[in-house]
Amino acid sequence: MEPDLRAFNLIMALRRQGVTDGRVLSAMETTPRELFVPEIFRDRAYENVALPIEAGQSISQPFIVAFMTDALNLSARHRVLEIGTGSGYQTAVLAQLARRVFSMERRASLMRSAEARLRKLRLINVDTMVGDGTRGWVEQAPFDRIIVTAATPKEPPEDLLNQLAVKGLMVIPIDRGRDGQVLVRVKRTSQGFQSTDLLPVRFVPLLEGVASE
Ligand code: SAH
Repeated sequence: MEPDLRAFNLIMALRRQGVTDGRVLSAMETTPRELFVPEIFRDRAYENVALPIEAGQSISQPFIVAFMTDALNLSARHRVLEIGTGSGYQTAVLAQLARRVFSMERRASLMRSAEARLRKLRLINVDTMVGDGTRGWVEQAPFDRIIVTAATPKEPPEDLLNQLAVKGLMVIPIDRGRDGQVLVRVKRTSQGFQSTDLLPVRFVPLLEGVASE
């Protein structure tokens, strides 16, 4: 099947799963996922499944990418912090909807490949940093939106909460041990933080420190 048609079928599947925001769907439609998956999985790039990437990590399921993007309620004015660049696929989708994306990854090799893909797509509003995302990106804070694509135990990291702007939103998978992982949305108000559970999910763990490769 032609990539265009496969992308279209994927978008229809996302719609059926309840993603209705037209801007999110069109950003997904114009992001060539085949560029972000390893060669051997290229023919499966438009299936609605997570796939393995290098270093034992994974590229998220398109539904999860769409759902998280939708949950962020992005506007073209927003500055977004993303933790866990991975393949750069989620980054590419965010970059089409926000003013600027600051993306952090603890594995330098993954970041190099992601940067090459983002350059190829001419997404010039992305800044990247190899570093420990649990500490956030102090020099660029505060952020209107924060998205974390690796699961953290119990609570969102304190540094990330501190770097979220008032009225800002964070979407983050929390590992609740025996209860599994749940995607949580945290809203910062002038009074404090309000959390809402959104969806059961499965992400690789958010690890502290930079990977020694
Ligand atoms: N959104 C990505 C999925 C990435 S998987 C995609 O669609 O391709 C999660 C990524 O988080 C992995 O690449 C992992 O190396 C990274 N990661 C884990 N802990 C991290 C940390 N503390 N800081 C930055 N990145 C981290």
